[in-house]
Amino acid sequence: MALLAPLELAEKDKLQVLQRLDKFRTWRSLDEKRYCLACGKVISGEQIQVIGDTRGNEPLRVICPTNGCHSIPMDWVRPTDEVLAKPMLAAERCDVPAPHLQDPTPESSTASR
Ligand SMILES: [Zn+2]
Repeated sequence: MALLAPLELAEKDKLQVLQRLDKFRTWRSLDEKRYCLACGKVISGEQIQVIGDTRGNEPLRVICPTNGCHSIPMDWVRPTDEVLAKPMLAAERCDVPAPHLQDPTPESSTASR
């Protein structure tokens, strides 16, 4: 079992790793920001962690810097205003009609003939 620890890479190398592993969006610099759909945080390329085996036995992986967030590059979208507005809208949209649990059982006054 390989112990995967965040690697300390030079900026240039890290950018290369990001470009290689993130097939969904182009990284031009580590200053670029991404919005993580999994944890809802804006992360920068600089913050993203590269984990893997320094000996190269394990494929490198890039992970979200947020504790416990297991997103993959696909979950990182460009933080446009549109994207950033989404979670707020979703939060406001919690007016889903709840099923009426109260089911008043009418007191059946069965007449005694
Ligand atoms: Zn995340």
